[in-house]
Amino acid sequence: MQRIFSSPWTPEEYAATEAHRQILPDSVCPSCAQPTPLHRHGHYPRWVVSVLGALMRLWIARFLCPLCRRTISYLPDFALTYRLLGPDSFAAYLDGRHERPEVQSWWTLLGTYRRRFEAFGGELIRTVGAGLGLAPPLLSQGLWPWIKRAGDSLATVTRQLVTTFKVGLLRRYQCHQPAGP
Ligand SMILES: [Zn+2]
Repeated sequence: MQRIFSSPWTPEEYAATEAHRQILPDSVCPSCAQPTPLHRHGHYPRWVVSVLGALMRLWIARFLCPLCRRTISYLPDFALTYRLLGPDSFAAYLDGRHERPEVQSWWTLLGTYRRRFEAFGGELIRTVGAGLGLAPPLLSQGLWPWIKRAGDSLATVTRQLVTTFKVGLLRRYQCHQPAGP
């Protein structure tokens, strides 16, 4: 399972301080919802694009629940599930901030994110409804303004979508679903 946590670190700080070693897991298993200490269970690499447009390799911490035996990885919320570019870069792209280095360098890839976002928008609206504290938009053109109004940043809103509604910004993923009964 994948958990998205509020990262106090930028990607650069995360890499420089080996932040994956400092992450404290939840005291309640995110998968089976039982109170239990989660055990460290190694880490794995993944790539992210920095705000300067450079590829960076980060280590992602993984834990094991002794009760349900599921592994839970802790993804910092500056990253999007299975995507190279994070929510901050995607928000800058959607806002047309073409001057940002990573938006320029990764324009084509960000365009595929936008198409995915728009294609998934209807399902996202049906899943969340008014759950973001705002009336959902009626038209797909209202999708981005709706998401944008729902929190301080796209990272915050995406984390809320995954944590509360078990749905990603661009897709529904098996790794966000808790274990069945
Ligand atoms: Zn568990």
